[in-house]
Amino acid sequence: MPELPEIETVKLGIESTVLGSVITSTKIFRRDLRFPVDKNFEKLIINKRVLSVGRRSKYLLFFLNKKTILVMHLGMSGKINVSINGVSEYEPSKHDHITMSFDNGVFLIYNDPRRFGFVETIKGDLADYKRFKYMGIEPLSKKFDALHLWSKIKNSSRVLKNIFLDQKVVAGLGNIYVSEALWDSQINPKRTGKKTSLADCKKLVVSIKKVLEKAIKYGGTTLKDFRQIGGEVGYFQNKLQVYGKEGEACCRRKCKGTIEKAVISGRSTFYCATCQK
Ligand SMILES: [Zn+2]
Repeated sequence: MPELPEIETVKLGIESTVLGSVITSTKIFRRDLRFPVDKNFEKLIINKRVLSVGRRSKYLLFFLNKKTILVMHLGMSGKINVSINGVSEYEPSKHDHITMSFDNGVFLIYNDPRRFGFVETIKGDLADYKRFKYMGIEPLSKKFDALHLWSKIKNSSRVLKNIFLDQKVVAGLGNIYVSEALWDSQINPKRTGKKTSLADCKKLVVSIKKVLEKAIKYGGTTLKDFRQIGGEVGYFQNKLQVYGKEGEACCRRKCKGTIEKAVISGRSTFYCATCQK
């Protein structure tokens, strides 16, 4: 599943190719995505200009003129292909559900085998958007600091792993980067919110920002030449320290521990019991 850094990378890739351009046509091959595509979708986006491209959690946002926002979510398996040579070279492939042409020649293809993703439009203010109503803080925002986190978790008897997967607490974190951030902060994923001090929250905030920023930086390198050649955006394998490394030696300096896998609420968690307390 793409996590926040992947979506940020998709955002940057899309921004670099369609910012300022007008959507000239769109085709929808399948309307039964996670939520059915509205019958007016095409009408609402055609002939509108992309004023800016944004991201909230794992949602991509195309801010169009006339106060229209196109929301795109890649779900579990979605990706976006960008061709800068337009529709002429396009050969439809399986699971292409939506295509969009822009007046600068860019052609965008939304592909999603499992169809957990969706597209929809909002009119007006993002603050009223139903899917963002209960969404937690953006982890890379300045407002996400130790005090904020502590206020959200200090009375919780849930374990940190579950707290961080809860999108109402922090938006956009998934299984991979929660494992990475907990390892980086040397805090055990099974620790409860109640047993987490303000000082621990400080470490956690630093680690969460650090692992996400590192991954975004890595994703940025996959975008090299993207503007010139287009290509596929959505997934990349950043260098990970613990995720998927069960049985391997912990790579923290001077730690002699081994990475273990635990299943917490049905999700795999990777950690080192020797250095994560
Ligand atoms: Zn260790």
